[in-house]
Amino acid sequence: MGFCKETEKNKKDCIFVTGPIIIGAGPSGLAVAACLQENGISSLVLERSDCIASLWQQRTYDRLKLHLPRQFCELPLLNFPNTFPKYPTKQQFVSYMESYAKHFSIEPKFKQAVIKAEFDSGSGFWRVESQDFEYFSKWLIVATGENAEPVIPEIQGMGKFEGPVIHTSVYKSGSVFQNQKVLIVGCGNSGMEVSLDLCRYNASPHMVVRNSVHILPREMFGVSTFSIAMALLKWLPLRLVDKFLLLVANCTLGNTDRLGLRRPKTGPIELKNATGKTPVLDVGALSQIKSGKIKVMEGVKEITKKGAKFMDGQEREFDSIILATGYKSNVPTWLKGTDFFTKEGMPKSPFPDGWKGENGLYAVGFTKRGLLGTSSDAVNIARDISDQWRLIKGCKCTSDSHILPR
Ligand SMILES: Cc1cc2nc3c(=O)[nH]c(=O)nc-3n(C[C@H](O)[C@H](O)[C@H](O)COP(=O)(O)OP(=O)(O)OC[C@H]3O[C@@H](n4cnc5c(N)ncnc54)[C@H](O)[C@@H]3O)c2cc1C
Repeated sequence: MGFCKETEKNKKDCIFVTGPIIIGAGPSGLAVAACLQENGISSLVLERSDCIASLWQQRTYDRLKLHLPRQFCELPLLNFPNTFPKYPTKQQFVSYMESYAKHFSIEPKFKQAVIKAEFDSGSGFWRVESQDFEYFSKWLIVATGENAEPVIPEIQGMGKFEGPVIHTSVYKSGSVFQNQKVLIVGCGNSGMEVSLDLCRYNASPHMVVRNSVHILPREMFGVSTFSIAMALLKWLPLRLVDKFLLLVANCTLGNTDRLGLRRPKTGPIELKNATGKTPVLDVGALSQIKSGKIKVMEGVKEITKKGAKFMDGQEREFDSIILATGYKSNVPTWLKGTDFFTKEGMPKSPFPDGWKGENGLYAVGFTKRGLLGTSSDAVNIARDISDQWRLIKGCKCTSDSHILPR
């Protein structure tokens, strides 16, 4: 097929994959592999780390629990065990992912960081390059996630700070920060939860709130806020649902503006749909803010050797800085020759249409809707590929990959 020509100089073996190539062995990659498997189609999952669900296993803090209730976080075809609580812990979620992979006999190829993928219009195949192989397939499924790389903001003077500066992706527990004064940059779910965790270790968290933020109680009337919103949206217009959520939030949490946590003008669901900005679901940080244990600070003007200067003129010393500044997609760094994704690495067509591109390109888990969006994408992609597969194979579902020696 002439595929290996270029590889001769790169000294990489070519691997021809009969089924689709899935990049990423997180929940999205596993979900789509399982749905394909259910249709009799084996796939090849390439993962840069050495385990499945690496975000959950390696880049999240110990106390993390699912933000949404269990029924919104299950992957297709296999439910959580009945013994799981309403909000499963990170450890429970990882054990579920491991059973999921085992149940569907998904064996990703680990330590395969994809550095380039491109469609070859001459052959009609996707060429996917890792550090030591070149893979070829008719189908390429991007499952590298919305959270592939940490966002590290540029703050003036950051290089001068003498203490440790870490991103939440490497934060495990507040035990390391016992009795310390800690500056947390960012006030999303991670910033709030890390600040709360630090309180448990007698640290003194100072949380920087630069932009406006919606804080909602995790539950209203004993029912998860997310469930209530989903149910109401079936019957009521979005803006009315937002009004209801804010009314209840103001009654139960009080006026958050007075704590330095200004609410955006746009309602929480409208904002989420428009920008992907998730409202904070409060799991206890707000009461620590009210009691003064977590201090809310205005934007940072400058980091100094020993601490930070703030926009309001205050200057404080800190022992450590934690960046709760979120994550970004890495798709533009390795996927070439397609305009399916924006320069931020998200599909140009928003949910529910962002799962299918051209020439056998698919995306799973880029919906800004968490694991619920993943499930919807995975089912759609598997159905679409299995329709093509039946045509090509006449239902003889053979697969596996073949190494073409150089
Ligand atoms: C702290 C935190 C809490 C969350 N809680 C919830 C929740 O309660 N409910 C919910 O629905 N969502 C939650 N989310 C969102 C969550 O990230 C996703 O729902 C879920 O992990 C997405 O799965 P994914 O497979 O799309 O992405 P990821 O889990 O990020 O998996 C992507 C995989 O791709 C791999 N990869 C990336 N680039 C490459 C490459 N170039 N080559 C090879 N492999 C690559 C990565 O190593 C990773 O293993 C949370 C996120 C965070 C950060």
